[in-house]
Parts: sequence; C-alpha cells; structure tokens
Amino acid sequence: MSNLKIAIQKSGRLSDDSIKLFKECGIKFEVGKSKLKSTSRNFPADFLFLRDDDIPGYVEDGVADVGIVGENVLVEYGKDVDTAKALGFSKCRLSLAVPREVDYPGIEYFEGKSIATSYPNLLKKYLDKKGVNAQIHIISGSVEIAPGIGLAEGVCDIVSTGGTLLSNGLKEVEEIFQSEALMISNKGLSDEKRVLLESLLFRINAVQKAQSHKYVLLNAPNAKIDDIIRVMPGMRSPTITPLKQEGWSSIHSVLKESDFWENIETMREAGAEGILVIPIEKMIS
Ligand code: ATP
Ligand code: ZN
Repeated sequence: MSNLKIAIQKSGRLSDDSIKLFKECGIKFEVGKSKLKSTSRNFPADFLFLRDDDIPGYVEDGVADVGIVGENVLVEYGKDVDTAKALGFSKCRLSLAVPREVDYPGIEYFEGKSIATSYPNLLKKYLDKKGVNAQIHIISGSVEIAPGIGLAEGVCDIVSTGGTLLSNGLKEVEEIFQSEALMISNKGLSDEKRVLLESLLFRINAVQKAQSHKYVLLNAPNAKIDDIIRVMPGMRSPTITPLKQEGWSSIHSVLKESDFWENIETMREAGAEGILVIPIEKMIS
C-alpha cells in the first residue's frame, strides 16, 4: 500500500499549527531542521516539508497528495486542486495600506499610484473589480518597507494584528481578502489514497469538534433538573445520576464552547452549583 504524501510548510507561520494538528490526530512523525521528508511511524503517510508557495503546485501535479496552505496562497497561484477542509488556524487578511500621514479618501486614492505586494493576482482582481488602475510592484518579502524606501506609494500585504504595518509607519485602509489554513488535495487521488484522506479528515473532525466543546458537570436540586437540561442537551441527552444527598442530582453533558457563558448563567439562575467545566480531547458523534 502506498503512503499518503502530505505537504506542510517547512518553517513559517503555518508550520507549528500544522504539526500540532497531526499530533492531536495521533499521527507521529519526526520533524528536523534539515529534513525534507519524514515517514510517520503509526499512520501510512509521508510528510514533505516545503515552502508554502510550492504546495498548491505540488498538490496539483501529484508530487504531494494533500497539503496545508493559506487560502491566500492557494487563490493567488490559482492551482486546480480540491479543498478538503478549512482548518481554522493561520487566520489573516490581505489588506491595502498607505503611509500613516495620508488623508485617505477611498479606493480611488490608488488610481495611477504604485503598490508593492507579493500577491499581484489577488490585488489585480480587486483593483479591476473596483475599476482602479494602479501599477503593481511584485516583491517577494518585506513588502511593508516599500513606501519608506520610495519603491511604492502603498502596499498590499498580509495583516493579522496590524502591528507590523504600524511599526513601519503604515495604516490599513482596505481589506481585500480573508484567509485561513486549508487542507487541499489532488483532484485525481486513487481510491486507496482517498480512503487514507477520509481517515485523516475523520480524525481532524474529531479534534476540531472536541476543541469547540466542553464537558460540563454540575449539581442541582431535582426540582430544577428540567430547567437546567433545557440549555444542556448533550450529544444524545444529558446523564443524570442521584447524589447521596436526598433530592439532589449530578448532571453531565457536553456544551458548545461558543454558547458556554450564556448557558452557565442560565444554569446558575436555575439553581445549579458545583459546576465543573472540563476540556474534551476527541469527540466523535
Ligand atoms: P515560506 O518561506 O514557506 O515561503 P512565507 O514567508 O511565504 O513562508 P509565512 O509568513 O510563514 O510565509 O506565512 C505563511 C502563511 O501563513 C501565509 O500565506 C498566510 O496564509 C499565513 N499568515 C501569514 N502571516 C500571518 C499572520 N501574521 N498571522 C496569521 N497567519 C499568517
Ligand atoms: Zn511563501
């Protein structure tokens, strides 16, 4: 049986979270600074460590079967691959920025101006949509210094907090694209490889679901149980066991982290006490 070839970024902003994801999925492999390839000890997979820019092309060509890459890079290179799953990490945006002192009137500001970027295709698509003609300077790194050295009047770059722009005397004026890490796959995977990808996605789903839920235990007077379980339905239904103290029960259930605080308030108001909230490692429904 041939192994699933998985391309991940060798070193950069996608690497740590990509490695962590496979670890949480129980897939073990070695990562070394000088390593280009590593075979997992307990899952039929070979990991290829590459520059993120090369990943969409390698997945299209079948050099890798699947890969993890930012949506920004995938769309910029326009390669013909499938998106298997959005992974929820490396969230960032591609934005236009100008020197802080500019009194920015709107996108028309860029008409006839020059913009430095590593994302010429994404930028061009946006400017075309807005009907703006600008000169695009392609630079492969440190785009944010371009205005300071007189290379361009604006930049189009990746932003997460805006700190890098700020420290280079720039301000963000237009958001043109939102991105997160994606798992992409080759369009012509063999049936055998597809089974491996499905089993990988099954594990990733279990990890992601667990991370967005909590296991909640609490004590409640029996008369209040109905009020409380209304807000904690659980995977199938909550578990209710009697406490040694007459008239009281312990309720166990699973709650979505996103509506956690609101529901905890409701439970407390209904008379719940001794509330414990426990992280879940894997969740399979
Ligand atoms: P490589 O050497 O592999 O070409 P790179 O320098 O092009 O790396 P990184 O800066 O490591 O790329 O970013 C990789 C991806 O991580 C980006 O394409 C983007 O999707 C995402 N990313 C970039 N900057 C941030 C950030 N500040 N916060 C979150 N995600 C980011
Ligand atoms: Zn890159």
